[in-house]
Formats: sequence, structure tokens, C-alpha cells
Amino acid sequence: MTIRERPSPNHDARPEGGRVDMLVLHYTGMKSAAEAIDRLCDPAAKVSAHYLIDEDGTVWRLVEESRRAWHAGISFWQGTENVNAVSIGIELVNPGHEWGYRTFPEAQMTALEALGRELLSRHPIPPDRVVGHSDVAPLRKQDPGELFDWARLARVGIGLWPTEPAPPPKDVPAVQAMLGTIGYRAPGSRLLDDETRHVLVAFQRRFRPRRVDGGLDDETAARISAVERAVSALRTLRRA
Ligand SMILES: [Zn+2]
Repeated sequence: MTIRERPSPNHDARPEGGRVDMLVLHYTGMKSAAEAIDRLCDPAAKVSAHYLIDEDGTVWRLVEESRRAWHAGISFWQGTENVNAVSIGIELVNPGHEWGYRTFPEAQMTALEALGRELLSRHPIPPDRVVGHSDVAPLRKQDPGELFDWARLARVGIGLWPTEPAPPPKDVPAVQAMLGTIGYRAPGSRLLDDETRHVLVAFQRRFRPRRVDGGLDDETAARISAVERAVSALRTLRRA
């Protein structure tokens, strides 16, 4: 894989000894790749990512993996508050929901698979810590969105796409508990309130992309329990 260099000034030192154990996927949400790269390299914007993949499969390195790029903002996953500190961020060029959201082309997906496999060979990133920006910031973010093919990525060993069924949650508090086990900052309201619906939307974009409405239909409930079971199994393995 050829990587082009376009250094961004927007990074700083990784705290916590430089441990990297998460991968966060984004879309750029801008009209063009050039516009997105300019912004990610603009010192005034104070945002960046480690890599950007254009729709034609060109991979740009903006920030060295040893440094902390500024891609996730205020975020949370599995108890981790500062996701940037422990993650690699990849931006996928796509206009996003604001400017004409569209499918991620074959060349872009192929490049992402190759880059993702390299990252997993360098860093101990477990499947349940490969996430979308909307997973770690469900109240603010929609990317990479429901057109992103997470199942395809999981087939090449990057991330999670469980297919084994599990008993569905019996009520809303059980749903919230399962979402919390998966990694989301789960509301403790015990109600299907706005915040819980936002988390459900994020979950659906990731694991039930044909229905992104924040509702709790049978299929969404079944997917939540299947993912929760898979994540629990991975965590048990990690503790062993
Ligand atoms: Zn993002």
C-alpha cells in the first residue's frame, strides 16, 4: 500500500505511555477531499486524524501513529473518556449526511481493509474497540453512518459483526445495561428517553443499518443482545 504524506500540525503527545487499543472511523462530511485535507491541516481548525482515505483509494498520512491526533472530541467508549489518547483515527472521504451522503466506493473500502490490517498488526486493538465516531459521541455525531459496510470489514477481521442470536432484553433498563456493556455511555434513566434514543440511533447505524430511527423493534433488540453477548465473550477472553 502506498501512503502519501501530508503532515498536519494538529497533534500532541499521547498520555498514558502511548498505549493504542482503539480504532475510530469517520467520514469527512465535506464537499471535496481537498477541502477536508485543508481543514485537517489548518492549525486554526485544531482537528486532524492519523489517516485520510480518498474515494479512489489514495491513503494520506496526516499524523504519525505515535502522536495523539484530534479526531474524536468529547467522547466515551467502554469507560475510556479520552478516546483520542488511545486511538487511531481514520477519515473516509464522503460528503456525509449534510452534503449528499453516498456509499463508500470499492477502491476506498479495499484501501481501508489493507490499512486496517496493518494497524491491527501493529497495535493490540480488539474487535469491540473498532468503532464509528457516532458510537463514541452519539449525541453529536453521525459518522461514518449507516451506508458504511461494517459487516464487510468484520469479514476481513476488523471489528465486530456478530451473527449468533442471543435472548433479547426484557425491558428498557435491560437494553440500557446491554448498551453499556457494549461500550456506549448508557443513560440510567430506565426510560426510552431522548438520550437513550440517540444511543439507539448510533447502535442502529452500526449494527442494524436498515432501520435508523431510535426505535426498539424486535430486530434492534435482538441485535443488541447478540452484540452484547459477543462483547462479553471478548472481555472474558481478555481477562483470562
Ligand atoms: Zn468524525
